[in-house]
Amino acid sequence: MTVEPLPAGMGREMHALVERLYPIARSITGDGLRETLAILGEGLPLEVRDVPSGTKVFDWEVPREWNIRGASITRVGGERVVDFSRSNLHVVGYSVPVRARMSLEELRPHLHSLPEHPDWIPYRTSYYRETWGFCVTHRTLEALEPGLYDVEIDASLGPGSMSYGELLIPGEEEGEVLVSTHACHPSLCNDNLSGVAVAAFLAGHLLDRRPRLSYRFLFLPGTIGAIAWLALNEAGAARIRHGLVLSCLGDPGAFTYKKSRRGDAAVDRAAALVLSRSGKEFRVGEFSPYGYDERQYCSPGFDLPVGSLTRTPWGEFEEYHTSADDLAFVTPRALEESLGVCAAIVEVLEGDLRYVNTSPKCEPRLGSRGLWKGGGGEGGPGEENLALLWVLNLSDGRHSVLDMAERSGIPFHTLAQAVQELKEAGLLEPGG
Ligand code: ZN
Repeated sequence: MTVEPLPAGMGREMHALVERLYPIARSITGDGLRETLAILGEGLPLEVRDVPSGTKVFDWEVPREWNIRGASITRVGGERVVDFSRSNLHVVGYSVPVRARMSLEELRPHLHSLPEHPDWIPYRTSYYRETWGFCVTHRTLEALEPGLYDVEIDASLGPGSMSYGELLIPGEEEGEVLVSTHACHPSLCNDNLSGVAVAAFLAGHLLDRRPRLSYRFLFLPGTIGAIAWLALNEAGAARIRHGLVLSCLGDPGAFTYKKSRRGDAAVDRAAALVLSRSGKEFRVGEFSPYGYDERQYCSPGFDLPVGSLTRTPWGEFEEYHTSADDLAFVTPRALEESLGVCAAIVEVLEGDLRYVNTSPKCEPRLGSRGLWKGGGGEGGPGEENLALLWVLNLSDGRHSVLDMAERSGIPFHTLAQAVQELKEAGLLEPGG
C-alpha cells in the first residue's frame, strides 16, 4: 500500500478533539477515562477493555478505581477559595475522600503550588500512597489568611476496574505496528491529549486502507496500563515488529525521537530518516529507562522495538504538568505536522521490503522499457532515474528500501515509486 497524503485541515480537527476532551477529569481509572474512550469510540471502532481492581500484572496490581465528583476549600464564614469545578487539576489525583474543618496550619501541608509560576496550578498525583491534597496557584496560597477552613473532597476509592482502549487494524501480514499513548491525564493538553489526538487521527487515516502490516493502537493509563496490557497479552506482544509511543506532540518545539532499547530497530531508522528529510529541526536521542511507556515495552523481558516520538520532551517545557499546558499551548499546526511525521514513518515501515533484481548483470536497458525519464545526455539523470538505478543496484535480496533511502539520499517516496515501476516491468521480484 502507499499511504496517501493527509487531507488538509486535520490540525484544526485534532485541536477540536483536544478541546472536547480537555474538561474531562481523567485519571488512571474511573469514569473520566471511560468517557474519554467513549468519545474516541465515536470515530473509531475502539474496543474498551476493563481490568478488575486487584488483578496482578507482573510485579504490580491494578489499583482500586477512583472517581471524583467535586472538591472545595471554603473559609469558615467566608468565601470558597478553591473549587474543583473551576479546574480539575485542583485535587491531587487519587486523593482519598475528606470532609473536615481544620486550621490553616493543618491544611497547609496538603497544599501544592508553584512559587516560580504564581498563576499556574501544578498537576500532582498520588496513585500508590494514600493521601489527599489540593493544587492551587501560589497567589491563592499566599492570600490564605489564618483561620478555619472547611475542606471537602467528594471522591471514592474502591473496587472497580481500569479501562483502556484498543484498536487493531488488520493488514495483509500478522506482524504489527504498535502505537501507544497514555490517556490518563486530566486537563492537560500537550501531555497528553496531543498524543491521544494524533494517535486517533493516525488510526482514522489507516482504517479505510488495507495496510501491509497490522496496526494496534492502545489508549492506556500511563505505566499501569502498559504493564497490564503486556501482562495480559504476552503472546501477542511477540507480533510487534515496530512501535511508537506518542506524547507531547502539540507544542511548537522541535521533534524529538527517542530510540528503542535496541537502538538500531527499523522504526529507529525510519523515524531518523523521516525527521532528517523533514526540513524541520529535530533531535534523535538514545534510549533511557525513564520517560513514557517505552519503559515497559523496552523492559528486558520484552525488548520490543518501540521508540518514542514527541516534540519538546516531558519536563523540558515549563508548562509541563501545570495548568499552563492548556488549549493555547497546543496548536493545530503543530498537531498537523506531528501527524504528518507519524504518517511518513508509517509509509517507510510499509514500504521497507527487500527485492531481487531479475537482470543483475550490468544495467538493464531502461529507455527501451519506457522507464527512463527525459532524453538523457544533458544535465544529470534526475532523481527519478537515479532512484531506478539505486533500487536495481541494491536489490540483491540483502538491502531493504530503507537501506537504499539512507544510502542514496533519495526520498523514500521516490524509491517506493521506482520499486513499483520496476516490479511492473518485471525487473524486480520480492525476495531476501
Ligand atoms: Zn505526564
